[in-house]
Formats: sequence, C-alpha cells, structure tokens
Amino acid sequence: MISATFAYVRPGSVDEAVSALADAGEDAKVLAGGQSLTPLLRLRLAYPDALVDVGRIDELREIRDEGDAVRIGAMATHHQVLRDPLVNEHLPLIAQATATVADPAVRHRGTFGGSLAHADPAGDLPAVALALDAVLVARSVRGEREIPAADFFVDWMTSALEPDELLTAIRVPKLGPGWGSHYWKFHRTAQAWAIVGVACAVRRERGAIEDARVALTNMGPRPVRARAVERFIEGRSVSEDAFRSAGAHAAEGTEPPGDLHGSPEYRTHLAKVLTTRALTAAAAV
Ligand SMILES: Cc1cc2nc3c(=O)[nH]c(=O)nc-3n(C[C@H](O)[C@H](O)[C@H](O)COP(=O)(O)OP(=O)(O)OC[C@H]3O[C@@H](n4cnc5c(N)ncnc54)[C@H](O)[C@@H]3O)c2cc1C
Repeated sequence: MISATFAYVRPGSVDEAVSALADAGEDAKVLAGGQSLTPLLRLRLAYPDALVDVGRIDELREIRDEGDAVRIGAMATHHQVLRDPLVNEHLPLIAQATATVADPAVRHRGTFGGSLAHADPAGDLPAVALALDAVLVARSVRGEREIPAADFFVDWMTSALEPDELLTAIRVPKLGPGWGSHYWKFHRTAQAWAIVGVACAVRRERGAIEDARVALTNMGPRPVRARAVERFIEGRSVSEDAFRSAGAHAAEGTEPPGDLHGSPEYRTHLAKVLTTRALTAAAAV
C-alpha cells in the first residue's frame, strides 16, 4: 500500500520542530524512527496532513548523567540505549527490556521516545518507564512540561502528549545500591511482541523487600502498575512462598485483552506466574 499524501518538514533543531508542529495544526505527526508509524501510513490507518521528521536533530539523541537520574533523549535508538554505559550501570532494567524489542534492524531505527509516545500497551518499554517512575519531558511553542509516566499512558495507543508537543527526553531516576531488577517477557518466538510482560524492580535490605515496583505489559489498554503486588511484598522476608503469594495479586485491577495469542484468562494466569518469576529474579541480587 502507498500512504496518503502529506506535507513533509525536516527541522534542524528542537525550536524549529515545535514551531513546525504548531504551524501544522492538529493533524501533524512526529516521525521518529518510523518503525511503527510507517506501516500505519502505508496501511492508511494513519493519514496525517504533515510529518515533522525529527531524525536529524542530534540533541534529541543524547543520553546524559543528571546526578540522581539518567536523561535519555527521545531520539536515542534502541540500539544506542542498549549499549549505553550509564543505562547499563544505573538502569539495567531498560537495557534488558530493550534487548527483547524486535530485531537488530528495528532496534537500529526505532527510538526510546517513539516507543513511549506510540503508547502501545503491548510495547515493552512503557511498562518499564512506569515501573521506574520515569518522567517524560515534552516541548511545544508554549514551553516545556514534565509528565510522570503514571499520567503519560492515557489509553490504547494514546498518550498525554498534545498534538503540538514533541517528546524531547525521558528522565529516569537511577536505581541505587540494594536494587535489583528484571523484565520477564513471554512471547511466542524470539523477537515477537509480548503476550504478557512484567517489569520489576525491588530493593532488598537485611533479607527483606523494602521497596517494590512492578508494572505489566499487555494486561490492559495501557501499561499498568501492579500495586497490589507491591503492597503485598513490601516489608516481607525474601522467600519463594512470599513471591508466589505476591504474584497471585498480579492481575488485580487489570483488563487483559483476548486475541489470537491468548484469552484474558490465559493472560491472567501468565501475569501471576511471570510476576513471581520476575520478583524472584530481581531479588536475587
Ligand atoms: C517488526 C517489528 C517488531 C517490533 N517488535 C517490538 C517489540 O517486540 N516490542 C516493542 O516494544 N516494540 C516493538 N516494535 C516497535 C518498535 O519498538 C518501534 O521502535 C517503536 O514502537 C516506535 O519507535 P519509532 O522511533 O520507530 O517511532 P515512530 O514509528 O516514528 O513513531 C511512533 C509514534 O510515536 C510518535 N512519536 C515518535 N516520536 C515522538 C516524539 N519524540 N514526540 C512526539 N511523538 C512522537 C509518532 O508521531 C507516532 O505516532 C516493533 C516494530 C517492528 C517494525
């Protein structure tokens, strides 16, 4: 299929990009790595009036240390994130989950920010951003605003970004000493989308779980934080039984979809089993 016609703009800076978005009106789309948007255009599931291609704005690719957080430029590719020393040292959960995204070709073009802005509940990185309490930085001609991940994913493929806003960076608090993390993805084959995924980070102290953060992929129209699991496990001694009992709460408050790959009941079962496994792996630090 061939896409509908659209105006094409390729700004050279963030200022130019946000001006172009403001000028283009409600029916403009940002083009990042194009790995999700291009198929939608070709299938005419999306037919924007204008594309603002931010692929040449180098400042959006920077990953830098901000003391207690790592700031990841929205246009950092999956490949770049995977290999980045700061991400690997302070946020191994992001590197581990990113390694499960698609294949090397997609990872060389697709971007961290694009994956979040796309807000696909089956995407691996939204749940990771949610579990890590990331803050998403958006710019428009009206200024800059910060959106906590908890408020960013609004509905199926819908984020809190306004049509004229550009996601510029994602600020992710570092996981300090005592923290362990794990992303457990269940998929049909390697390089496939998650049927269910679990992003988990826990802080161990004197044999107990002091803090826990758990978020689920593909258990509803948006990524969901498994608060009941967190409440159950916090303060408990590390044990197989505790993790299994915590995992039993994983599907509370979720709305798992049914599709060719699994029924809601199957996903509920997976969420419990995978949460138990993810907690166990994350706590083994
Ligand atoms: C074969 C294949 C397999 C895949 N498998 C997986 C997988 O297993 N797991 C997974 O998580 N993902 C998977 N993906 C998706 C991949 O991760 C994409 O990289 C990602 O979804 C979109 O990133 P992108 O940079 O290509 O964004 P684009 O396709 O360019 O854009 C996607 C959407 O986000 C918006 N957008 C992008 N960047 C910004 C920004 N900076 N500001 C505002 N809006 C923005 C666009 O307007 C568009 O609506 C797969 C993709 C393919 C093609």
